[in-house]
Amino acid sequence: MPAGPLDNTPASPGYDTDVLIAGSGPAGGSMALLLATYGVRVKMITKYGQLADTPRAHITNQRTVEVFRDLGIEHLLQREATPWELMSNTTYCTSLAGQELGRVPSWGTNPRRHADYLLASPCTMVDAPQTIVEPILVSQAQARGAKVRFDTEYLGHEQDADGVTTTARDRLTGTEHTVRSRYVVGADGARSKVAEDLGLPFEGPGAVAGALSIVFEADLSRFVAHRPSVLYWMLQPGADEHGVGLGVLRMIKPWTEWMLIWGYDPAAGPPDFTDAFIRDLAVKLVGTDDFEMRVSSRAPWTINHHFATSISKGRVFCAGDAIHRHPPNNGLGSNTSIQDSYNLAWKLAHVIKGLAGPSLLDSYDAERANKSIADTGRILEALGLSDTSDPGKLEERLAVLRAPGQDGEKTREAMREAIAYKSYEFNAHGVEHNHRYASGAVDPDGTPMPAFTRDPDLYAQPTTWPGAKLPHAWVTRDGVRVSTLDLGGKGAFTLFTGIGGQVWAQAAAAVSAQLGLDLPVVSIGPGQAYEDPYGTWAGLREIADDGAILVRPDLYVAYRVTSAPASADEATTQLGRALRAVLGR
Ligand SMILES: Cc1cc2nc3c(=O)[nH]c(=O)nc-3n(C[C@H](O)[C@H](O)[C@H](O)COP(=O)(O)OP(=O)(O)OC[C@H]3O[C@@H](n4cnc5c(N)ncnc54)[C@H](O)[C@@H]3O)c2cc1C
Repeated sequence: MPAGPLDNTPASPGYDTDVLIAGSGPAGGSMALLLATYGVRVKMITKYGQLADTPRAHITNQRTVEVFRDLGIEHLLQREATPWELMSNTTYCTSLAGQELGRVPSWGTNPRRHADYLLASPCTMVDAPQTIVEPILVSQAQARGAKVRFDTEYLGHEQDADGVTTTARDRLTGTEHTVRSRYVVGADGARSKVAEDLGLPFEGPGAVAGALSIVFEADLSRFVAHRPSVLYWMLQPGADEHGVGLGVLRMIKPWTEWMLIWGYDPAAGPPDFTDAFIRDLAVKLVGTDDFEMRVSSRAPWTINHHFATSISKGRVFCAGDAIHRHPPNNGLGSNTSIQDSYNLAWKLAHVIKGLAGPSLLDSYDAERANKSIADTGRILEALGLSDTSDPGKLEERLAVLRAPGQDGEKTREAMREAIAYKSYEFNAHGVEHNHRYASGAVDPDGTPMPAFTRDPDLYAQPTTWPGAKLPHAWVTRDGVRVSTLDLGGKGAFTLFTGIGGQVWAQAAAAVSAQLGLDLPVVSIGPGQAYEDPYGTWAGLREIADDGAILVRPDLYVAYRVTSAPASADEATTQLGRALRAVLGR
């Protein structure tokens, strides 16, 4: 697809823009950037005069970094984010200076798990709070032609057969105006007015806890640099009530900027955030008062577990927290939001350009309406406690952890198991990579989905089964290593084949001309444009050399054929039928 428009001309008469986005968080920012990159005219309105002013979501998984890579901005993220190596533990203790209960090697940094992560993706995980991610997404979107209006609040919309008329308020002047667009994306967060206006159905328990989020600067290196972690979890009296399960000190910048998270009862409302209250809390979690701190923000936060079972209506789509609000424990918030946009953006682009039928957009709902997550609490159980309401008892049980004898030995074993179980939170590599989409935007090949051979939440299992993510393999061009993921994406479908697959190249040229879209062909094998010197691709592709795999712009497999038919005509018919089916044409 061509690069984004750099002018401000309306998409076509009668429209102010092709797509109007409400919200500039991870979902809205990535949607604006993707659409602008794909050459779609896009306007983004956002309620406040600035992007995220507090760190909020931060764990940035490989799938999300792959989206940045596809957009050509992975280096911008890597430049500012905290690197993978410094995310290597999750530490459980009574306070930073206090008793350590154990550590979980996290985010694939355990030597036993590291290879799984390296094998699944060309990208590393990083820690990048929204204060880093949003400016990159939004400035790049603007550079590629997206128009952004700050201090502009979505008020409501009306849709008809041809488009959507949105009313917005300029919060600086108080004036209201309307924007006419073909489509609207509501990326307006957990209190989404767009989702409310659509009347989307929600399920889940709703507000499950309250948490105070306090951001402060303090050099805590002496307590943490030797056990680098993103999250330090503190077992203390009261820490298990509400909040995220325990008290947390979360690294924002190693090791000088922090977010303190402590629970409160949402029914009772947040306590008074006085300076003295915050200092006491920080001293409690650090375990000494021998440190200086400067508080930069304080906010109560309601932790929700709530998701929409339908995520769009007609020409209006919702993405991100507007449709799913997860407890933050395994970092799904912004990652899921960016994946929503990656799924929807190419579909909107193809429909707007007349390359796909509107039914392609139905697959967004089918592929992205919700799933959800796990628990806390085993650590207390390991100590033989149900809560921390009796500080004396907690103290006593913590002492047992260090005591000789049977009770100590049993408690230590239970604690090791409880902490190891946290891998489901901090090493859920399968949750990230094992999506198998089933919708009209995938053309099945009649084979059953390959069964998972290991725990599907923990372990990524690559396959080219239609609906799965294209497996990553390092191949080479002129001897230089590139990922198979680098050979697809960029807003276009791609056809992968190998030696003997010339009929597919001919078919792709014919189908591309018939349907009026780019359809690059990638041939991998000895003497081909790309070689497979490690043999990794041959081991992953699940087709013969002359088979073909059609990959969607979001790097999911749309269709595959095990081997080449006898003639180019036959290949053209097969490929044309599959692509028409996927595009709803
Ligand atoms: C205090 C706090 C701490 C958090 N910490 C974590 C964490 O540690 N880990 C984690 O995974 N997640 C965390 N989250 C959740 C995480 O921030 C979200 O999952 C993520 O931001 C979702 O991205 P989004 O783009 O969908 O929504 P948001 O980032 O919420 O963005 C919504 C956007 O919509 C705009 N907007 C809202 N209403 C309107 C309107 N009417 N008109 C126009 N614009 C509007 C807002 O200004 C904003 O730009 C936290 C959230 C909060 C509030």
